[in-house]
Amino acid sequence: MIIGVPKEIKIHEYRIGMTPASVRELTARGHTVLVETDAGKAIGYTDAHYLAAGAEITGSAADIFATAEMIVKVKEPQPVERALLRPGQILFTYLHLAPDLAQTQDLLQSRAICIAYETVTDDKGGLPLLAPMSEVAGRMAIHAGASILERSHGGAGILLGGVPGVAPAKVAILGGGVVGSNAARMAIGMRADVTVLDRNTDTLRHLDSEFKGAAKLIYSTSESIEHAVLEADLVIGAVLLPGATAPKLITADMVKKMKAGSAIVDVAIDQGGCAATSHPTTHSAPTYLVDEVVHYCVANMPGAVARTSTQALNNATLPFIIKLAKQGYAEALRNDRHLRNGLNIFKGQLTCAEVGLAHALPT
Ligand code: NAD
Repeated sequence: MIIGVPKEIKIHEYRIGMTPASVRELTARGHTVLVETDAGKAIGYTDAHYLAAGAEITGSAADIFATAEMIVKVKEPQPVERALLRPGQILFTYLHLAPDLAQTQDLLQSRAICIAYETVTDDKGGLPLLAPMSEVAGRMAIHAGASILERSHGGAGILLGGVPGVAPAKVAILGGGVVGSNAARMAIGMRADVTVLDRNTDTLRHLDSEFKGAAKLIYSTSESIEHAVLEADLVIGAVLLPGATAPKLITADMVKKMKAGSAIVDVAIDQGGCAATSHPTTHSAPTYLVDEVVHYCVANMPGAVARTSTQALNNATLPFIIKLAKQGYAEALRNDRHLRNGLNIFKGQLTCAEVGLAHALPT
């Protein structure tokens, strides 16, 4: 199969769909991999590394889209990329279609086969291609939160861990899944006063056995959320309803009542955000204020640590890329129900129920 890896063009996105090590796995199996020139340069993967791994370096994204049978990316295709997709071409990348009607319509029109990393499943009921980025984003959320609590960044001037004689900051984490548990690990490590809320009691039990009392674990209801959010110095939004728009757990009224100089890091922003006051921001302008509460809503947080993120993502995507390249989409999708769960759009047909529901489109 001919596999194409274009350079990411979303603002401040330095990750790349395939590392040289992944490319080598594909070329060793007889496949052709076309990599756009300088696609990995920003994170230390030069054209020479890709050539050494057996890739062909291509001058333009347009040539890659025109030739490749499968496009492997990181972020959702931007409008110029969507216009280059061809009928029957496989697109394997993050899509996040539920909050993005324009992209959904363009991908339907392209008649491409669009497999979204974020809805591929595994035997344990997890989302294995979302998990590595969630691990990164969860850990980063506490770095970001600690930074925006500093006075010069809009916060009240609070040190997350306190010092002897001064209480630590209160951190409320909504959702105790991959993002939430990784955020909790970092916040506990920094000696913050941590509360995790989840509506899945098994998740709370699992965290209880790991944290052994180092975090408060609370069942999530509107009441417990309101209580934790109003007490918190830092709130981490880490909930997920797979494939669907994030539930608005933090209302505008709650934000009004939050402490001045407190902060919300809404990691769930890529699914629309779990605070009513959240809107997506970028790494170049990551925060804004609503009612004196600092909001950090960067939709591609792992992009800031692009080398670690690219490696972690490739560890998870590589087996699926190998399978698609070896078997072709028809056999690979038929044989692997977990990969099939990743299929969001098939040749002009919407195949993901949650996305259909979000846009009132038939599936
Ligand atoms: P996950 O499925 O591992 O965890 C989500 C958790 O939310 C689950 O434990 C679930 O029980 C819980 N939940 C659902 N509804 C809830 C409610 N009403 N109250 C409390 N808990 C509730 O998902 P994840 O991998 O941790 O991802 C969380 C979010 O972070 C997703 O929206 C994901 O897309 C997003 N994300 C964003 C970035 C970014 O750069 N901004 C990066 C990675 C992931």
